[in-house]
Amino acid sequence: MADYTLPELPYDYAALEPFISGVIMELHHSKHHQAYVTGANAALAALAEARESDNLASVNKFEKDLSFNLGGHINHSIFWTNLAPATGARPEGELAAAITDSFGSFEKFQAHFTAVAMGVQGSGWAVLAWDSLGQRPIIVQFFDQQSNLPAGLIPLLMLDVWEHAYYLDYKNVRADYVAAFWKIVNWSNVSDRLAVAAAQTAGLLLLP
Ligand code: MN
Repeated sequence: MADYTLPELPYDYAALEPFISGVIMELHHSKHHQAYVTGANAALAALAEARESDNLASVNKFEKDLSFNLGGHINHSIFWTNLAPATGARPEGELAAAITDSFGSFEKFQAHFTAVAMGVQGSGWAVLAWDSLGQRPIIVQFFDQQSNLPAGLIPLLMLDVWEHAYYLDYKNVRADYVAAFWKIVNWSNVSDRLAVAAAQTAGLLLLP
């Protein structure tokens, strides 16, 4: 089995300026994201070693490390592709229809997602996710990288509201960072994710 690896960004570090600086993007990708990749691989290796040596005494710590670091790796991998240089685009097609069906309108969705991002206490994420059970998009908050997460969700659009994501550019003013985020959402990526999630989970048996 291959180790997890840090994915390349689909754009240059400075491509999202002036909304997110190249300095933040480079640190965030090459240091923070890399640390989650390293941590996820280390946790899997520690679990393998624990099984091999019949010493499962530290299994709780390793499982927690795996959940946190693999969560961080997945979240950031999705987040990078959710962003693109500003185009002024809005959701179209099936994505636009799903947002209107689930949230009333694009503006209602945007206000809801913004409030969720602003409301995260401490470190976490605002997430638009496909609910495999309800077969609809819902908005959830993650605490840290993985807590407060119902099973069966497939993330579509994620916003990192850890301070490391914005402090160098926006200091403590998270509202300005969230407002900037809306300028650089790659709606075409979110649409592609919705199409795959809906197709792959239709008829998925989550409950008896
Ligand atoms: Mn981050």
